[in-house]
Amino acid sequence: MTHTLADTAGLDLHQEASPQRSKDALRTLFLEEADVQRRKAIRQGLWLAVPIYLMFSLMDILLVPDVAPHTMFARFVVSICALLTLEMQIRAGAKTNQLDIACATALICSYVGWLMPAMMTSYATNMSYYMVFGAMFMMGANLFFTFNFSLSIFTSSLVLLTYFVALSYFHQDIYYQIAFGTFYFSCFVFTSYVNFRLNRERYHVFLNAIEAKVQQRQAEERGVALLRLSNTDPLTGLENRRAIDGRLRHLWDEWTEKERNFAVFLIDVDFFKKYNDFYGHQEGDRCLMQVAQTLQDSMSRFDAVIGRYGGEEFIALARFTTARDIEEIAETMRQTVQDLSLTHERRRDGTSVITVSVGVSYTRPHPDAKLERLINEADRALYLAKANGRNTVKLFDPNDPNNSDDTENVAALLNIAIAQNLVSLVYQPIKTLSTDRATGLEALMRLRLLDGTLVPPSIFIPIAERTGVITDLGLWAIRTVCQQVLSCEETSVVSVNVSPIQLKCPGFATSVAAILGEMGVAGGRLALEITEGLEVDMNSDVLRCISDLKTLGVKIWLDDFGTGFAGLSWLRLVEFDTVKIDKSFLHDACTPCGKAMLSDIVDLIRNRGHKILVEGVETAEQMELLKELRIDQVQGYYVGRPAAIEKLKRNRVPYLPRTGLIRPI
Ligand code: C2E
Ligand code: MG
Ligand code: MG
Repeated sequence: MTHTLADTAGLDLHQEASPQRSKDALRTLFLEEADVQRRKAIRQGLWLAVPIYLMFSLMDILLVPDVAPHTMFARFVVSICALLTLEMQIRAGAKTNQLDIACATALICSYVGWLMPAMMTSYATNMSYYMVFGAMFMMGANLFFTFNFSLSIFTSSLVLLTYFVALSYFHQDIYYQIAFGTFYFSCFVFTSYVNFRLNRERYHVFLNAIEAKVQQRQAEERGVALLRLSNTDPLTGLENRRAIDGRLRHLWDEWTEKERNFAVFLIDVDFFKKYNDFYGHQEGDRCLMQVAQTLQDSMSRFDAVIGRYGGEEFIALARFTTARDIEEIAETMRQTVQDLSLTHERRRDGTSVITVSVGVSYTRPHPDAKLERLINEADRALYLAKANGRNTVKLFDPNDPNNSDDTENVAALLNIAIAQNLVSLVYQPIKTLSTDRATGLEALMRLRLLDGTLVPPSIFIPIAERTGVITDLGLWAIRTVCQQVLSCEETSVVSVNVSPIQLKCPGFATSVAAILGEMGVAGGRLALEITEGLEVDMNSDVLRCISDLKTLGVKIWLDDFGTGFAGLSWLRLVEFDTVKIDKSFLHDACTPCGKAMLSDIVDLIRNRGHKILVEGVETAEQMELLKELRIDQVQGYYVGRPAAIEKLKRNRVPYLPRTGLIRPI
């Protein structure tokens, strides 16, 4: 048999268009399935029946001793012939039906072979009882052997016929004939009926078994399909995060047990949000599918797995032997996506095709080796790749001080910073040159470690951004500014720095509105400084957030103008209330060229109609220059250093507009 039971059954059961064909096929299948069992049963049955048949020789000796030698001889001859024939047939590979026929013939022969010589006995009374045993042959045909139904009926009918012939010949007593004839006939009817029921039952058991197998197979198939579905990303067809997490754990276990190295590659599609916003979500999806396919194709020669880690981020896992292997894999991924040449005109960084940034980390001995650490490292490397202008590969560098355990500690500390009072705000005065008065403050965040050591914002702000804690910290800063300054003092404006991540975070404007409402502070007294940097995509979400904030009356300032490449395009997109020119331009203005540069920048911003604030005023000369350039506001150590609110109050620092001039602290 070349097919399995469930296969065939599944095939036939589903052919609903031709039920008769299905039935026939099922019956054939039933016979095929039963065949092996039947062959076994026939052999076992005959080998069991023969000794019993031979043992009845004792009954012959007891009941019909005069003919016993003949009956016994007949028994032996029939038995040996039957067994020999059967065994030869089996060896010759005879069909099961032929074995059945041989068995049925043996049964008839054994009955006739015993009955004929036994009837010659002079022990007529004994024989009249002994003849009852003939019913056993009928039972044998109908119940003991598993012949098919027609052969059983034919064999048992022959036994019945033989009996009736023998009865009419052997015993003339009509009552005896009626009684024993009826007995035999009843036996025939009952055993045939039971045989019929048994056959049907066997077939039903087979059908039930087949149905159970079909159901089991369908359940298994459903299970496999479900598993595949739950492990596959529906858009790209790559493995999803769940599946990749499983693989990661497996690779990690292999590394810890057998030191089989592997690397984790985080791949992010550059400026994908801009692509989505400009080309639409359908094109965005198509782009992701193409990138996914390309990445997968390019990875096949490295025996790496690739999955979608979420949004526009992919993840690849690959074993490696040397660091060069890792670099080659990462560079291949970057290059193949670039070679795809999918147009992306909106990125404005000198490239006009879709590219990816790749961050990689890899297994290596570490006293505190953890899988989470590895992912975190790859994430950091990716962050660096993006910060380095994108379309770049960055390998995690354990020797980089920024990647030290201290950074890990800061990341952990930031989670408890608000609750443990580890963050605070200092305020730096902002002066309006036309009135020569302090008109505002900039709130600057400070973080200290548990031992009191201060961590510079240049360290902890990027970490807070990467871990997402910046969202909570940012709202905390706005609330604190409202509590410490805006709700009780009459400072006209306090600016708070916001991270782009906050602007992208849904509900940020609503949270700001809630804080202002709760504190009873007018929106116009709060300014939010957005730093011009590589990390901000001015996508529709950010622009919508800015517009919502403006509706609240909140002022939007552009911080550190001139330090990034996006500043000019931002000036077109957003109506900033104030633009803060980065201190580096003022510090360079000591040369004629630097001065001309500063002057040009001032003209540019002024022509756009924005107010101008220059940061980093440290000397009287710089102050004079800024006055000369008719700058609106200034900020810097010359005006006042950042200080805690208590200190500012204690020193009676005139940071309030009504209290007079601001002097350097
Ligand atoms: P920023 O917003 O441009 O802040 C101005 C930085 O220049 C401050 O450094 C300030 O202390 C320093 N500064 C002020 N006057 C002078 C001067 O005359 N000369 C020189 N050389 N430096 C001066 P700080 O406090 O270390 O802050 C660094 C940066 O950290 C900030 O730059 C801002 O981007 C970020 N930051 C600070 N607080 C927050 C915050 O609450 N949220 C976010 N997202 N970023 C913050
Ligand atoms: Mg600032
Ligand atoms: Mg600044």
